[in-house]
Amino acid sequence: MVTLNVAETKTSSTENARTYEVRTFGCQMNVHDSERMSGLLESNGYVPVKEGERPDLVVFNTCAVRENADNKLYGNLGMLAPIKRENEGMQIAVGGCLAQKDQDTILKKAPWVDVVFGTHNIGSLPTLLERARHNDEAQAELLESLEVFPSTLPTKRDHVYSGWVSISVGCNNTCTFCIVPSLRGKEKDRRPGDILAEVQALVDDGAIEVTLLGQNVNSYGVEFGDRQAFSKLLRACGEIEGLERVRFTSPHPAMFTDDVIDAMAETPNVMPVLHMPLQSGSDKVLKDMKRSYRSKKFLGILEKVREKMPDAAITTDIIVGFPGETEEDFQETMRVVEESRFSSAFTFQYSIRPGTPAATMDHQVPKDVVQERYERLTALQDRIAAEENAKQLGKTVELMVVAESGRKAEQTHRLSGRTRDMRLVHFSVPEGAEQPRPGDLVTLPITEAGSFHLLSDPTAEQYSVRRSRAGDAWDRAQADSCGTGTTQVSGGPVNLGFPTIGLRK
Ligand code: SF4
Repeated sequence: MVTLNVAETKTSSTENARTYEVRTFGCQMNVHDSERMSGLLESNGYVPVKEGERPDLVVFNTCAVRENADNKLYGNLGMLAPIKRENEGMQIAVGGCLAQKDQDTILKKAPWVDVVFGTHNIGSLPTLLERARHNDEAQAELLESLEVFPSTLPTKRDHVYSGWVSISVGCNNTCTFCIVPSLRGKEKDRRPGDILAEVQALVDDGAIEVTLLGQNVNSYGVEFGDRQAFSKLLRACGEIEGLERVRFTSPHPAMFTDDVIDAMAETPNVMPVLHMPLQSGSDKVLKDMKRSYRSKKFLGILEKVREKMPDAAITTDIIVGFPGETEEDFQETMRVVEESRFSSAFTFQYSIRPGTPAATMDHQVPKDVVQERYERLTALQDRIAAEENAKQLGKTVELMVVAESGRKAEQTHRLSGRTRDMRLVHFSVPEGAEQPRPGDLVTLPITEAGSFHLLSDPTAEQYSVRRSRAGDAWDRAQADSCGTGTTQVSGGPVNLGFPTIGLRK
């Protein structure tokens, strides 16, 4: 992420193109939306700001789900106010869920903001910026419904080897802890032909991995009346030549059907990994959350998935301390977690999100009780993750090399990659062996296992590289950007629409 320095007034507009930076907060949907914003800005002549320089435009893509999201936004906006005052022509835009929720409050609290745009108005961003400049007046556009499906907008992808494709936006569920339905609206499904055309375009562009994205992928098709539309879509992705890895997020247990399990098991390029939010193991809490499945159904789905894909890695989201959660309820969560054998879990401490039904529920659980339960849950999940990872020891795996290396990469000189089931592996390249590029595929054995990642220090004989189209595309992208790097989407991806306090993985 580019960090602005108040003292830094140098601008990179020497080539006359306006420079921009997008700062992203929140879930994968927001990360993907930020790619659209970047693509849209670049197709309108903006260029990414260079590291350390001041952009002409800062776009905040906000999240209303994170705790203190509004304080953080106003803090950031406050820091930009003097920079903007000193730099005529600089613009600030605020979009995303918080913009949709707070609407005109943003312009009242931070009148130096130029544009406020809602989750349904991404396509209007360049016009709104232009209009704000021309009229010398802040512009706000916050539609309640979608007019242009976001995926029809140009995209600038974070990495050439991998891409996100929206299959739907919005959600028809009403989980009481979640603000997504009120901010993103009812589910809107994209036509399968449009989705597949976008997947094909990504593949043509060098991607070998695609993640299908929706708040609730299992209900895909509800709008055009096809209950099996999602499994058909997975199978259709299997027909796309050159597409090696297909993933999706997130399914909802209540709507998870056997045809999806069959499609996953029978389509070779659909990866054996499933992220399925549990949220709570207590049936009473699930009822209060308005999650219409029960723990038995959840465990039944895992059983069926493992029957068809014995090596599938299953991950989840869990909220601890939902209003009214008793020790017995929490013990139910511990039981289901023990039985589920998740390879990893995003665990959250419940905290009030204004605007959600749960915010005003009685029997909010005291913070110290939530903390104590959270620690017991994470200790259990860490043990299970370590045990599950230990089962990988000695296995030979294929990794897709990623651009980001681990925190200790500088000392260890290890690179990083993801297995087919999404496990993170840090690996060393044997002396004299071929260095892979991000997007290339390497095959090697797992030599060490921890709770959160695996390690591989292979011998030259145990190590091989398969150069891929994605690696070639990476090389081309690096050459195009003259090695300056192009990443503009900041803030790590987190899960879709859930409280993020105490996030662990
Ligand atoms: S948690 Fe997921 S399924 Fe529930 S309302 Fe939010 S987006 Fe929809």
